[in-house]
Amino acid sequence: MMKRKIIALLSVLILAMTIFALPVYAAKTDTTKTDTATSATDAAGTDSTDTAATKPKGGLMALSFDDGPSKNTIKLLDELKKRKIHATFFIVGERVEEFSDVLVREYKEGHEIGTHTWNHLNLANTDGTTANENLQRTEDAINAAIGTDLGPLPIRPPYGSVNDNTRSYVNAPLILWSIDTLDWKSRNAEAVKEKIINQAHDGAIILLHDLYDTSVDGCIAAIDELTKEGYTFVTVSELFRRKGQTLETGVTYTNAEDNGVDLGPLPEKDKKADKEKEKKEPKKEKERVDKGFPWKWLIFCIGVLAVYTVGMLRAFGLIQTVSPLRKDDFHEKTTTHPHRNAAHHSNRRHTADSRRNPNRRNQP
Ligand code: ZN
Repeated sequence: MMKRKIIALLSVLILAMTIFALPVYAAKTDTTKTDTATSATDAAGTDSTDTAATKPKGGLMALSFDDGPSKNTIKLLDELKKRKIHATFFIVGERVEEFSDVLVREYKEGHEIGTHTWNHLNLANTDGTTANENLQRTEDAINAAIGTDLGPLPIRPPYGSVNDNTRSYVNAPLILWSIDTLDWKSRNAEAVKEKIINQAHDGAIILLHDLYDTSVDGCIAAIDELTKEGYTFVTVSELFRRKGQTLETGVTYTNAEDNGVDLGPLPEKDKKADKEKEKKEPKKEKERVDKGFPWKWLIFCIGVLAVYTVGMLRAFGLIQTVSPLRKDDFHEKTTTHPHRNAAHHSNRRHTADSRRNPNRRNQP
C-alpha cells in the first residue's frame, strides 16, 4: 500500500513540475526575445547616428528660418518630417499667439527654437535694458506656448545687426549665417534653390524665412539635391557640437569651422528627453511580458493535472469510485425501509393541512 502511494504521488509530482515549468519557460523565452529586439533597435539607432556624425560625405549644414511661425511653416514641417531633418526656427514673439500650434509642433518634432526678438527689433540700435526686456518677453511667450522652460535661447539678430554693445548685454549666443538665400527679395523657389546649391559648404548656416511658400519649395528642392551629394542637414546647435564647438554667450557665429572634434549629435534638451524615454521603456517591457504569459494554457494544464491526479489515485486504489455505490445505497434504503415512506406520507399530509389553514384564516 505504501509503495503504491509513493509511486502515485511521485508520478503526479513529476507531471505537475513539467506542466508548471513549461509556461514559465515560455514566458522567459518571450522576455529574452523582447530584450534582444530592444537592444537590436538601440544598436541600430546608435550605428546610424554614429555613421551620420563621423562620416559626413558632403558635409554638415544648418537650416535656419527667421520671422515665423506662419501658415507656410506647416508645409515646411511636413516636408522636413518626411526627410527626418531638423532645423532651427528663430521666432518673432508677436507671432506666437496666432501661430502657437505651429510653434508647439516645431518643438515637438525636434526642431530647435531660437528668438528673433518680439517685434523684429534692431538690437544694435537699442540699449541693453530695452533689448533684454524685448528678448525676455519673446522667451516667456515661447515657453508659455510650449509649456516648458527652454532656458536661454540662441538669438538671431534682426537684419544681422549687432555691435559690441549687443554682445555685452545678451544672455545667449548670437547666430548669423554664411549662406544668404535672399528669399525675401526674390520670392522665387528656383532662385532660392540655386542660391543654396551654389554656396553650399561644410559648416554652413543657411538663412531662410518661413513666411514664403517660395522659400519652402526652394529649400526643399535644394535639400533633396544636396542630400544626394552627401550633405547632411541639422540644427544650428547640433552643427556646432558636431564641429567640436560649444556656443558661448555674447559671441557672434556665422558658420562652424571643422576642428576635428565631435561633441556628439544630441543637445542637452534631447538627452533629457531620451532619459525620460528610457525610464518609461522598462515599464512597457514588463507589460509586454505580463500580456505574453500564457494564462489560458496554464489553466488548461491545471485541468489536465487534476484529471490525471484523480486517474492515478483511482488506478492505485487510493480512492474508490463512490458515486454509483451511493445511488445503490439510496435505492436499497428507499425500498427496504417502508416505515420511512410512511413518515414521508404523514409529512405530506401535514404540509397539505398547513396549506389549507391560511385559506381558512382568510375566509370572512
Ligand atoms: Zn528677420
